[in-house]
Amino acid sequence: MRLRVQGTILAAALLVIAGSDGRMLAAPGASSSSLAKLKSGNARFVSSPQDALPVDAGRRAALAKGQTPFATVLSCADSRVPPEIVFHTGLGDLFVVRAAGNITDKAILASVEYSVEHLNVPLVVVMGHESCGAVKAAVETPAGQSLGPNLDYLVSAIRPSVNATASRPEAERMRAAILANVEETLNDMLTGSAILREAGKEGKVAFVGAYYELASGKVYFSEPVAPPPGEPRATGGHQ
Ligand SMILES: [Zn+2]
Repeated sequence: MRLRVQGTILAAALLVIAGSDGRMLAAPGASSSSLAKLKSGNARFVSSPQDALPVDAGRRAALAKGQTPFATVLSCADSRVPPEIVFHTGLGDLFVVRAAGNITDKAILASVEYSVEHLNVPLVVVMGHESCGAVKAAVETPAGQSLGPNLDYLVSAIRPSVNATASRPEAERMRAAILANVEETLNDMLTGSAILREAGKEGKVAFVGAYYELASGKVYFSEPVAPPPGEPRATGGHQ
């Protein structure tokens, strides 16, 4: 059985995602500052989505020397959920990793590890979204029915979250499954990567969940998720 990240913290986190926003991150300065930037950028996208993104030739040229993104975002590949736009950010601001259903695998974990270990990104966000087609596929595909080996892989990663929320009323079920899938991805990230787990324990990076609402453009954030106890880095990392 896999390790779980701290259940009570996650339960509270998901309550925040599902309900009110605006609770501040109780984490060290850099991650709090990154979260504040994401919140203010999203507020601008919500109120003035027509505003031009902060992209210009000077910044583009300056970035040729290197990058220092202020947050890493793992989001769904859905065309309606581009992190750079929904957080009103420019070139070099966000390290973005995307896969349908915002699941993790080795390539995604390695990408997030790179951002934390080599680019010193202080905040990692896993962002699910309303009406996620990948979660819908996992809800609607009967166990045992194949969608092909690659989609089966995707659906199998989401299915535990679907099963865990199967008893919820129909009207709430999709949203509950999407939130559970964000939780599962954070769990997979912190249990599947010694590098991320240790960086979290050392306070170098904070991890939060998020939920994006399609029509309003609003992003709801969770409280930070604490890494679970695990293998020391010397024995658990760099497979
Ligand atoms: Zn999606």
